[in-house]
Amino acid sequence: MSAHLIEVNALVKHFPLKGGLFGGRRGAVHAVDGVTFHIDRGETLSLVGESGCGKSTVGRAVLRLLDPTDGEVWLDGERIDNLPAGKLRPLRRRMQVVFQDPFSSLNPRLSVGQIVAEPIVNFGLASGSELWDRVAGLMDKVQLPRDAMKRLPHEFSGGQRQRIGIARALAPGADIIVCDEAVSALDVSVKAQIVNLLADLQDELGLALMFISHDLAIVEHLTHRVAVMYLGKIVEIADRRTLFASPHHPYTRALLSAVPVPDPSVKRQRMILKGDVPSPINPPSGCRFHTRCPFAFDRCRSEEPELRPRAAGQSSACHLDVVPAAA
Ligand code: SF4
Repeated sequence: MSAHLIEVNALVKHFPLKGGLFGGRRGAVHAVDGVTFHIDRGETLSLVGESGCGKSTVGRAVLRLLDPTDGEVWLDGERIDNLPAGKLRPLRRRMQVVFQDPFSSLNPRLSVGQIVAEPIVNFGLASGSELWDRVAGLMDKVQLPRDAMKRLPHEFSGGQRQRIGIARALAPGADIIVCDEAVSALDVSVKAQIVNLLADLQDELGLALMFISHDLAIVEHLTHRVAVMYLGKIVEIADRRTLFASPHHPYTRALLSAVPVPDPSVKRQRMILKGDVPSPINPPSGCRFHTRCPFAFDRCRSEEPELRPRAAGQSSACHLDVVPAAA
């Protein structure tokens, strides 16, 4: 039983690789390998990391769009990773998603009103005039004009379409919305508008948000805590202020060194990572980051570091207690 809205314990997701002469198993993509975190009501947790680090797989496993290979997912005290489809269905109302590309996730033949009404109808929450009153109220919440209800998705800009996606996610009364690269494809100013809208909706409705992004800069103004992922593992998790002011893990430092600082008198030392992210089919031994870490030493190649507390609200998985400023 958990007091958190979402609790994820030792989550694992491996995708088997089939092939070979007789179509047998050839190994597995280790997309997520033992990830643990929680999200409270009214809280934003951001999952960040390079493409392929497993952050979207975590989001999909939390939403039960994917079945985990191992580990537990709890929603408001109820374990959901092993629930059969019939028992899961009513809980889906509480967990919604906004994807990166709103255009491909909005049915082009339905009007915006029909799109937003669909989850309300599917979950049997309202009908008749009450249904359309609710849809109109959702248009107000996402700051779209009410006449948008009669129009088709292609008549809207990318930012407006993302507002439609958010209205649809709110429609069934979600407690948590997973935003999977939800603003990544938008222009800078539109990005900021959508981030502000999400923050306002969170304040108003007490929503929890799981914000998945490859870009730390986007999450800085929105998030309460940040979990940094590398090759299927959380390497650092901390509250926003601590993570941006004094990151511990060398990978977090490298990601952060690429984030522009608004104050021109403040300079972050640029840390450029060498090489590509290794294959998740055969991840490196020991610390998975050792092939790219400028501080790697012998122990890193053989022994996997545990996530350990570093400061209040901050844990990181590195053998070094004190990470040097530069290699
Ligand atoms: Fe780098 Fe070693 Fe720390 Fe991994 S454990 S981040 S390789 S210093």
